[in-house]
Amino acid sequence: MSQAMPDALADRETETPDYNDQFDAVVVGAGLSGSAAALTMAQEGLDVVMIERGRYPGAKNVFGGVLYTPTLRELVDIDEAPLERYIAERRYGMLTDHDETAVSVSPGEWHDPPHNDSYTVYRGDFDEWFAERAVEAGATLVTETTVTSLVREEGRIVGVETDRPDGRLRAPYVVLAEGGNSLVSEGADLKPTEDRENVAVAVKEVLEFPDNDTAIEDRFRLSGDAGAAYHYFGEGAVGDAFGGGFIYTNGDTVSVGLAYRLSDAATSQPDPEGTLNAFKTHPAVAPLLRGARTAEYTAKTIPEGGIESVPDLTHDGAVVVGDAAGLVLNNGVHLEGTNMAVESGVHAARAIADAADRDRTDAAALEAYPETLEESFVIQNLRRYEWLMESVEEDRELVFGELPRAFADAGTEYFRIDQDPKETHAKNAKKRLLEAVGGYTGAARLALRYRKLVP
Ligand SMILES: Cc1cc2nc3c(=O)[nH]c(=O)nc-3n(C[C@H](O)[C@H](O)[C@H](O)COP(=O)(O)OP(=O)(O)OC[C@H]3O[C@@H](n4cnc5c(N)ncnc54)[C@H](O)[C@@H]3O)c2cc1C
Repeated sequence: MSQAMPDALADRETETPDYNDQFDAVVVGAGLSGSAAALTMAQEGLDVVMIERGRYPGAKNVFGGVLYTPTLRELVDIDEAPLERYIAERRYGMLTDHDETAVSVSPGEWHDPPHNDSYTVYRGDFDEWFAERAVEAGATLVTETTVTSLVREEGRIVGVETDRPDGRLRAPYVVLAEGGNSLVSEGADLKPTEDRENVAVAVKEVLEFPDNDTAIEDRFRLSGDAGAAYHYFGEGAVGDAFGGGFIYTNGDTVSVGLAYRLSDAATSQPDPEGTLNAFKTHPAVAPLLRGARTAEYTAKTIPEGGIESVPDLTHDGAVVVGDAAGLVLNNGVHLEGTNMAVESGVHAARAIADAADRDRTDAAALEAYPETLEESFVIQNLRRYEWLMESVEEDRELVFGELPRAFADAGTEYFRIDQDPKETHAKNAKKRLLEAVGGYTGAARLALRYRKLVP
C-alpha cells in the first residue's frame, strides 16, 4: 500500500499527472491532526495523500508552545522526536502594571519519564519529523501546494481543488486538517466563520541570548533537559484585554507571547505587538529576558469558542479534525490543542478505515468519529469548561483587573514588616481581598459560580 512521493507532484512547474481516485483519502494540511490522521489511515492499510501548503510540514505553523504527547506516544517513538525540553515547572503569575503574585507547581515526578507528556518543541522541526513518520507508514506527502476548495458531486465531497496546474485530486474521503484559519472548510459551508469573541489573536517571539549561554538555566532555575512554562494574566500581561501571556523555555531560546480576544484587538487593545512589547518590559518579566534578541516573530489566531463552536465533524465524504474543528481548550489555566488535534486525527482515521471496509462514504458511515471522540478526553474536557469562559467574561474586570491588584495589595500587607503586630496585617490583607470580591456575599457568589473548577 505504501506510495513513493510522486516526483511530478513535488515539482510545482510540472503539470500534475492524473492521480484521481489513486488515493483512498486526501488530508488537507500536514500539521499535527493531519499527520496523525494520515499515519493512522496508512497503518490501517489505506492509500493516503497529505497536501501541505508550506515548504515543509510545520514551516507555517505557530504555537506557544508545549506539545502534549499522550496519544502521540502511542503512534510514534517520542524519544526519537526533536523535543526541546520537558516541562518541569508550571508557574501562573497575576500581573498588575508593576506587581506579580504567582503560584508555582514543580512536582518531582515531572522530572521522570514520561515527564507528564509535556515538552516544548519547535513546530518546524516536530511537524516535519511527525509527517515523515506518516510517510514511513505509507502516506504520500505533497508540499508547497494549497487546497483551494472542495470538489462536490451531487452534494457529496469527492476530492479537492489545489493551486497546481490540473490541481484537482479526487478521493473517496477528505480529511480537513487545515488548522484554525480554515478557509477551505468555511468556503465549503462545513462551518461558519467564527465570531470575534470566539477567536484569540496570538503574537509570539522566539528570543535568543547571544551573549549568555546559561541565561535560560540560570534565570528559570533549570538543569539538563528540564524546562519551564510560565503563564501570566492581568493588566500587566495583556492590558484591558481578555487573555494572557506566556514564556516557554526551549533548548537555547525562549518563546514569549500572548493571546487575547480578537474582539478586544478590534476595540480596547488594538495593538497586539505593542502589548507584547509592554509585557516584555514588565518588572516581573524583563529580568528573565534581559539581553535577549528576537530571532522570530509570528502571529496567528486560536479558536477558543469551546464546545459550542465545534461544527459538524462528519459530512458525506469528509471529516473535520483538530483546530479546523475548534478542538482547543484555552481557558487561562490550560492551553491545549496539540493533544486534541492528534487524538481527533486518530479517531477520524479509524472511522474512515471502518467506513472504507464497508465501502461507504456517507456521513452516517463516519459517525464513529464523533461518537468515539465524545467519549474521549477531547470532548469531555471541552464540555467540562463550557461555562467557564462565559463566567469569566461576566467577571472580567474582577478577574483581570481587581483580583490581581487585590492579591498584590494583600500580599504586600500580609508580609509587611513594621512595628504593628502580624494580626493587624493579616486582618488588613483579608479586608482587601474581601473588598475586591464584594464581601462575604460576593465571595460566596464566586465560590458557587466557580465551584466546578474543583470537583
Ligand atoms: C500562539 C499559540 C500558542 C499555542 N500554544 C499551545 C500550547 O502551548 N500547547 C498546545 O497544546 N497548543 C497550543 N496552541 C494550539 C495548537 O497550536 C493547535 O491546537 C494545533 O497546532 C492544532 O493542530 P492542527 O493540526 O489542527 O492545525 P495546525 O497545526 O494549524 O496545522 C494545519 C496545517 O494545515 C496547513 N494548511 C492550512 N490550510 C491549508 C490549505 N488550504 N492547503 C494545504 N495546507 C493547508 C498549514 O500549513 C498547517 O501545516 C497554540 C496556538 C497558538 C496560535
